[in-house]
Amino acid sequence: MSTIPLPTDDEMYQALLRSDSEYDGLFFVAVKTTGIFCRPTCTAKKPLQKNVSFFSNTADAIAAGYRACKRCRPLDVAGMTPAWLDALMEQVDVDPLRRWTNQEIRSLGVDPARVNRWFKANHGLTFLSYLRCRRLAGALAQLSVGDDPTTVAYAAGYESLSGFRDAFQKWFGTTPGQIDNGGAVLTVNRIPTPLGPMIAAADNDHLHLLEFADRRMLETQIKRLSARLKCRFLPGDNRLIEQTAREVTEYFSGSRQDFNVPICLLGTPFQQQIWELLLKIPYGETSSYERLAVAAQNPRAHRAVGRANGDNRLAIIIPCHRVVRSDGQLGGYGGGLRRKEWMLRHEFAVVRGERSNDGN
Ligand SMILES: [Zn+2]
Repeated sequence: MSTIPLPTDDEMYQALLRSDSEYDGLFFVAVKTTGIFCRPTCTAKKPLQKNVSFFSNTADAIAAGYRACKRCRPLDVAGMTPAWLDALMEQVDVDPLRRWTNQEIRSLGVDPARVNRWFKANHGLTFLSYLRCRRLAGALAQLSVGDDPTTVAYAAGYESLSGFRDAFQKWFGTTPGQIDNGGAVLTVNRIPTPLGPMIAAADNDHLHLLEFADRRMLETQIKRLSARLKCRFLPGDNRLIEQTAREVTEYFSGSRQDFNVPICLLGTPFQQQIWELLLKIPYGETSSYERLAVAAQNPRAHRAVGRANGDNRLAIIIPCHRVVRSDGQLGGYGGGLRRKEWMLRHEFAVVRGERSNDGN
């Protein structure tokens, strides 16, 4: 994992106060008065700014003498579950596809009714819904992402159970009709990145979707994709998702500037035209809505360009983050402004590094 430049202390402190999930995994906050470190999304009482230190990874926080918070469990891959659930959750981790009977749950010394009450109270789901969600959404497909504590923590930030209600609604609450209507199947999986996990969806020929998992736009994009392709989504891995994961990882490490994974630009002719133009913006450079509108031979269409930009379903690969306002302001970004800023800084730094290397 490359060293990630941290945002300013003020920015991180504000994110901490908001419990902003966009920052989860980006930094960890240690509290000098308690000796504990947390994720930014921790539900514990927020510390005073003068009492906090920020770390870009859990290993550094531990090395500085802090211990992991028991509430937000920055080290814990399994997320926040009470101890009496551990035995059951362990089995679920071992075999996520298993279909549990009440008797089997009881055989672990756990009362099924209590399990359901806990899931209902904490996540608004029954245990069976949770399992179904897990099976189908694959939201926990990447529980074990390696021994690197930073990687584990990045994953853990999103793989906690609290993400499940959201995931469930996202994947099923809004598109229940699509589960059994036949049609194409898109394989869906999560790809961990230093800026939080992304959702990727691909068939055997093309990558169709790549977006940060916590974005509201994701839901809309999935609906549109479902409608266009008449497809349903199933969790898992395929060749193209693996290729995407590899290339995305290389992008974040600074060793990749262009993507080779085959992509599908399903959209209106205008959207396709804009997306093609976006693909031509070089790594480490930016363009503006106005310039793109001119390039599309429709100089007055910069608003429509902005919309087509926002409709991009392939974050990073179709580099809509390289479009800024003509006054130099960052402008918007579907994946969150913070990520746009990070990626631009990252690309500038890589390009600068290359230039200085060339100069040597
Ligand atoms: Zn905490």
